[in-house]
Amino acid sequence: MTPVIKTDILIIGAGPCGLFTVFEAGLLNLKCHLVDSLGSPGGQLTEIYPKKPIYDIPGYPEILASDLVQNLLKQIEPFSPKFTLGETAVLLKRLENQNFEVTTNKGTVLEAPVIAIAGGLGSFEPRKPLINNIENYEDKGIDYIIRDPEKYRSKNVVISGGGDSALDWALFLVNIASSVTVIHRRTEFRGAPESVLKLLNFVKEGKIQLLTESEVTHLAGEQKLEWVIVNTPTSDQHRIDCDYFIPLFGLTPKLGPIADWGLELEKNAIVVNTTDFGTNIEGIFAIGDVNTYPGKLKLILCGFHEAALMVQSAYKAINGGRKPSFKYTTVTGINRLD
Ligand code: FAD
Repeated sequence: MTPVIKTDILIIGAGPCGLFTVFEAGLLNLKCHLVDSLGSPGGQLTEIYPKKPIYDIPGYPEILASDLVQNLLKQIEPFSPKFTLGETAVLLKRLENQNFEVTTNKGTVLEAPVIAIAGGLGSFEPRKPLINNIENYEDKGIDYIIRDPEKYRSKNVVISGGGDSALDWALFLVNIASSVTVIHRRTEFRGAPESVLKLLNFVKEGKIQLLTESEVTHLAGEQKLEWVIVNTPTSDQHRIDCDYFIPLFGLTPKLGPIADWGLELEKNAIVVNTTDFGTNIEGIFAIGDVNTYPGKLKLILCGFHEAALMVQSAYKAINGGRKPSFKYTTVTGINRLD
């Protein structure tokens, strides 16, 4: 039997908010262990938009999502966090000593007096269009998430969707791909009005082809995707030759196993108080996109703030109610934890 992994704070989710929790906890000499279903840290930043610039991280006028993850990993390195990656936390149990025991889908057992759930959107599934043979072309020309835009350099790309993701990627790929065609079921877009304007300008300049009130209905190709058939208002069988078809219809957030842990939930998110982001179960906190409270904004910045407040209460829970003494890092510097 593999030994139980023990730590001070068990963090479920190694997205930006989980990673920053390690830093805030480290300042209070608390050790952390992170569990994530994905094979590498970074959450949505790594999985959904690694090459997109973020503009609202304080102190960074612009930073690529993947660079922010690298910086967070560097920042927490002195506190020697441990990771269990590629495993999903599935079971939660309260032990007689009042610690929590969490078991992953691969049988790893972890024990901690405090749990910080930073599970973001949970395990997220892309919404797929209802096209008969779509599974046959997955990873053979069909992508639901753009990880590395370079993959599409000099390729013919068809994007479908009318939200921010479809618009943003069409605008980004216009300078990379050989051709970009956007297919949208309606005439109105759900995405940001300024992105719609930019898209329409590219359409006017002939750099993006736009088909509205249209839908991809068939996929074809021998070994990989070679063309799609689009239903348009004027023609039933409009064929577009392409290397990639990227349906960007959003992600279905699924809390997954965490939903069965007895936590108070509201619209698929964990209800917390705004003093320390504690849940209805003492010792379990929830920060970042996974939580909800009046006025909640799903922003990295807000998750960082939540992590800073949360660890204060985590410290008290671990140290018999004793409050941590508040000190600036300019005074204390960084004291390594091994
Ligand atoms: P996430 O990043 O979602 O990470 C959660 C992690 O938890 C995931 O890795 C998941 O695998 C893991 N997990 C979940 N359940 C389990 C489980 N049971 N066991 C193990 N692991 C689990 N925010 C901004 O502030 N500025 C922006 O400009 C910005 N742009 C964005 C652009 C796009 C396209 C998207 C999709 C989001 C954007 N966001 C932006 C939002 C931002 O990415 C999120 O607010 C942020 O990722 C939330 O971080 P998190 O750590 O709470 O969760």
